[in-house]
Amino acid sequence: MIYFDNSSTTSVRPEVCSVYSQLLQTTYGNPDSLHALGKKAGNLMEKSRAQIASLMHVEPKEIIFTGCASESNTLAICGYALANENRGHHILVSNVEHASIDHSMGWLKRFGFEIEYLPINEEGIVTPEIVKEKMRKDTILVSVMHVNNEMGAINPIREIEKVVHANPTCAFHVDCVQSFTKISIPFEILDMATISAHKIHGLKGSALLMKKKNIRVVPMLQGGQQEQGLRGGTQNAPVNIVLAKTIRLAMEEMESSYKKVKEINDYLRKELALIPGTSINSPDNALPYILNISFDRITSEVLLNALNQRDVYVSAKSTCSSHSTNASATLMAMNKSEKIATHMIRLSFSKDNTIEEAKEFIQIVKEIIKEYGLSL
Ligand code: PLP
Repeated sequence: MIYFDNSSTTSVRPEVCSVYSQLLQTTYGNPDSLHALGKKAGNLMEKSRAQIASLMHVEPKEIIFTGCASESNTLAICGYALANENRGHHILVSNVEHASIDHSMGWLKRFGFEIEYLPINEEGIVTPEIVKEKMRKDTILVSVMHVNNEMGAINPIREIEKVVHANPTCAFHVDCVQSFTKISIPFEILDMATISAHKIHGLKGSALLMKKKNIRVVPMLQGGQQEQGLRGGTQNAPVNIVLAKTIRLAMEEMESSYKKVKEINDYLRKELALIPGTSINSPDNALPYILNISFDRITSEVLLNALNQRDVYVSAKSTCSSHSTNASATLMAMNKSEKIATHMIRLSFSKDNTIEEAKEFIQIVKEIIKEYGLSL
């Protein structure tokens, strides 16, 4: 098997699995219970929160545990907008965000918010200039993803932040799902940031929202006092406890993983360029963990199925929009042709991939194009 779909989800680290299964048996108390078993779970969860905060250079009360990045994004966007509508109703968002951001914006429109979309350029990024052009006095929130999940394009969030915070009443949210533990993130200058564990060899059902203490949001999940009253429901203590270890291990391997993945990406770019009719859609300076390509003789669907039959797993478009058959919105927004946008696949790598897999992938793709490729 070749698994090149790590932007969809990753394998769970064995160390994370073993701590998690121990916790399930020993630390099942409700962290809000006043007895010893509950207190044990609560104390370990707060210790994990403090460790995560220290790794991200923020304060423990600025970490809110959630169940997935989609939930974190919803809390950041809808929770912030509804808590701050006295300041204004104008929100800026890039036009290629994850569905959880996009749909949250759609929902806010019903409450009278004015959503304006920031176009990406041909390199797949939002420029600080375009943000400056669209900013208004009544803009209360700007949301831009750090790394694009289809292309790997890296947005210049440091420069965008300067433009956003030139308006002191505007907050900046960044979806860091595809960049976290892969490149450094300046959490100190962000108001809110979204992170998911299952993209970094952690557990599904585990994520967080980093929210600075001066930023007000209203809860999206109603309930009790959990997570400062911002997320009702019994906290998933074992999952939240093991998240600190997941993040620490991924951060410790950040440099070595990057180097390994970059070698694989460089090799594939070089070899793919030799196959006639291939387009490399990811920009040259994209994050090497993601490589978006198109072959002009074979559609995404046919290639995906043929690879699948050979136990090679990749994505066409991002996984959350994989059930719609139209062209990739990101590629269309980058001004690529419809053909490129309907013939693309996304390869995404992890520390567990090898150059040998990349070599085998090239061989298999050549065979598939020979067998199924349309003559032009
Ligand atoms: N944001 C981005 C950029 C993503 O790529 C994804 C998942 O693919 C998400 C958010 C949603 O993550 P989750 O599956 O944890 O809800």
